[in-house]
Amino acid sequence: MKCEDLLRMLNDYVDGDIDPAVCEDFEEHLAGCNPCALVVDSIRKTITLYKGEEVYEIPLPFRERLHRVLRERWKELQAHRPCNSASP
Ligand SMILES: [Zn+2]
Repeated sequence: MKCEDLLRMLNDYVDGDIDPAVCEDFEEHLAGCNPCALVVDSIRKTITLYKGEEVYEIPLPFRERLHRVLRERWKELQAHRPCNSASP
């Protein structure tokens, strides 16, 4: 799995389509890629916090914001330490 794949999965995760916790590839990538691990960690915390307030469906504006934050954080982190996705 490349960083791009992980980011795409994360977008689905934000939308509630998948649960990365059950995906081995996902966990495997996180184990070897610190920037992605950091991004995923903060996203998970945000979603957990949100769901903690007995709201189970994340509203669209919030999701869109999360998508944006996700991309920005990810880009930022990748810039500091490119991993296996750097090849053309
Ligand atoms: Zn990565």
